[in-house]
Amino acid sequence: MAPSRITAVILDLDNCLAPADEVGRELLEPMFAAIARANHGTVSSEELDAAFAECWRLPLDAVAQRYGFSPEMLAAGWMAGRLIAVTEPMRGYPDLGALSELSVLLFVVTTGFRRLQESKIEALRLPNLTGAFVDAIDDSQRMGKEGLFREIAERHRLEAESVLVVGDNPESEIAAGNRLGMPTAQILRPGIERGGNATYYIHHLYELRRIVAGVPR
Ligand SMILES: [Mg+2]
Repeated sequence: MAPSRITAVILDLDNCLAPADEVGRELLEPMFAAIARANHGTVSSEELDAAFAECWRLPLDAVAQRYGFSPEMLAAGWMAGRLIAVTEPMRGYPDLGALSELSVLLFVVTTGFRRLQESKIEALRLPNLTGAFVDAIDDSQRMGKEGLFREIAERHRLEAESVLVVGDNPESEIAAGNRLGMPTAQILRPGIERGGNATYYIHHLYELRRIVAGVPR
């Protein structure tokens, strides 16, 4: 069976379009300081350092659960984290130009604090985006990536098979796309481990052209 034509691509942001720490490691410092102040020995300093390193890859609620943060630590990090924003322009990875060569609808869907993720979308100034959506961890009603992907497909009358999901995280966007029957591509940016659940594995956004054109993998 010939692969169906890809007419839309949904892109993750952090470690897909731009390194999560592009603007500098001091970006999340206010959040780390607030969490450390509320620690009172709950988490060892080595574990806390490991948790902070994970915050460049995962949203705070996921990190808090994995490292056993106390409710006080999570609340302190939450209050500080939701105020953080990028204020300078971002360049993203050097292959973003590949996106303008694709004749498809382009969407960005990203998880994190709303203000920070919206500021990054703005700072990247991506041309020809059809839409950008934040799966905000600080919203009272969260649709999750799966809910947002489904809504995009419904709103634009897209068959699941014609929507390609691209991102670095096997447990987040790749799993969500798989559950909806959308083809998925894990982008193996520096430091990202290969998962086992994606339809395609790529290193650069330029490789999307071949997938969109329906060239068998
Ligand atoms: Mg990501």
